[in-house]
Amino acid sequence: MKSIILGLIVCLFTVSSGSSQSLTSGKSLPRIGIAGLGIESSTFSPAITHEEAFHAKYGPEVFTSYPFLSAGSPLRQQATWLPALVGKSLPGGAVTREAYESLVGKVLDSLKKNGPYDGLYFDIHGAMSVVGLDDPEGDFITRIRKVVGYKALISTSMDLHGNVSWRLAKNSDLITCYRMAPHEDAMQTKERAVTNLLERLKSGKGKPAYKAWIPIPILLPGEQTSTRIEPGKSLYQQVAPLADNQAGIVDAAIWIGYAWADEPRNHAVVMVTGDDKTRVTKAAEQLARSFWNVRNQFDFVAPVGTLEKSLADALASKKHPFFISDTGDNPTAGGAGDVTWTLTQLLARPEFKQADGPSLIYASIPDPELVKKAMAAGVGGQVDGVAGARVDARFAPPVPIKGAVESIVEGDINAEVEVVVKVGSIHVIVTQKRKPYHKEADFTRLGLNPRTADIVVVKIGYLEPELYAMQAGWIMALTPGGVNQDLARLPYKRIKRPMFPLDKNMPDPNLSVQFVPRSGESK
Ligand SMILES: [Zn+2]
Repeated sequence: MKSIILGLIVCLFTVSSGSSQSLTSGKSLPRIGIAGLGIESSTFSPAITHEEAFHAKYGPEVFTSYPFLSAGSPLRQQATWLPALVGKSLPGGAVTREAYESLVGKVLDSLKKNGPYDGLYFDIHGAMSVVGLDDPEGDFITRIRKVVGYKALISTSMDLHGNVSWRLAKNSDLITCYRMAPHEDAMQTKERAVTNLLERLKSGKGKPAYKAWIPIPILLPGEQTSTRIEPGKSLYQQVAPLADNQAGIVDAAIWIGYAWADEPRNHAVVMVTGDDKTRVTKAAEQLARSFWNVRNQFDFVAPVGTLEKSLADALASKKHPFFISDTGDNPTAGGAGDVTWTLTQLLARPEFKQADGPSLIYASIPDPELVKKAMAAGVGGQVDGVAGARVDARFAPPVPIKGAVESIVEGDINAEVEVVVKVGSIHVIVTQKRKPYHKEADFTRLGLNPRTADIVVVKIGYLEPELYAMQAGWIMALTPGGVNQDLARLPYKRIKRPMFPLDKNMPDPNLSVQFVPRSGESK
């Protein structure tokens, strides 16, 4: 709705800022940069992330990431957009310092070349870990500030599994995050961040007078905090009415935070921005208190169990397809994606030894060597080799795979090449590079039909919408890996303590508002 209103008032709008570009009409448009890097990276995984994983887009190519900024769209016409670089990686291990410095350097070079700026849209995830550097997003925005200055408004949008350090909060003028997990509102959130930025620039209101920040000493995995079920559902349902319908409030957001990195910034946060101090305070404290009050009610979004129990349930079930989440090595949470522990167990089970046993699809295990062998054998040929455990061999060695090649598909942006090998009654998907399997088409394009399979095992946490809609039964297997769901087993050393639920009987924390100084101001 806001974007429609903005579309109507755009022709009435002029900016007095000397930095704005004059157009032939005599009107001037705000100059807005776009930059950002998105990844969640586990520091409990031996995997490392390199620059190419970010698939960086440069200059005008950046618009392809934002349908609401496509050519001719109302928002596109309301500013002179100066996109620098936007990169988004699959979750993984910590980013190398070289990759981080290279990408940040490219952003800063581009921003220097195209300035000055009235505003900047900062599109980040918020859970990037970089080898040897704390709070990378805080570092990144501080370095951007040195280029764009403090007059420019920065609007930051994030994943609700990101972390909001004081430094990031201070350097952001507007800040928000998703309100849904799974993140069905990701694009809507980005659009809101851009719309709010434009609105503040065009109205001349500029930086909000108040930024309320409340750290909450809670650290939970995403698998317990889906907004599809309680208590996450009701908690997040409070956000929109507070944020969107109140004069004096620009936005409100709750961050769950990221559980698989070990820094002081890893915990939940509430932020509310706006010009009305009383309303901002009330809204922020309401959200923070509500979160704390329901902390004991968070639980896994599906039944959980050992792999053995999960298989027993799946085999006994009359409903198919029965999904099993192989959660410990979920690549979309930061697992290496090549842990072989679960597949090794499956291949050892007598039920799946014969070709006419219960059909099971396993998605997936990356191994470039086995893919090469399968391509040499061709569809219908036999392949014999090992797969996985090249990055994370802590739990099981490379798994022997011997069977018939059922399909070979090239061209996926993440996997590059995908092959299916039938071992007994198991269809094993082996990829050249790791890839998450979230959509029905991820399977059908390989000639697999998950709807008619008895069991589908996916390296995933909670099921993404298409898989969720398809499942007739579902259990999350608590398997080992870099994103072990049993947080009490992770060797935290640097997060703040006490922290719920690690410190069960901790006292109630102080959940009153802390006001973050406006960017460029010390108070
Ligand atoms: Zn997330």
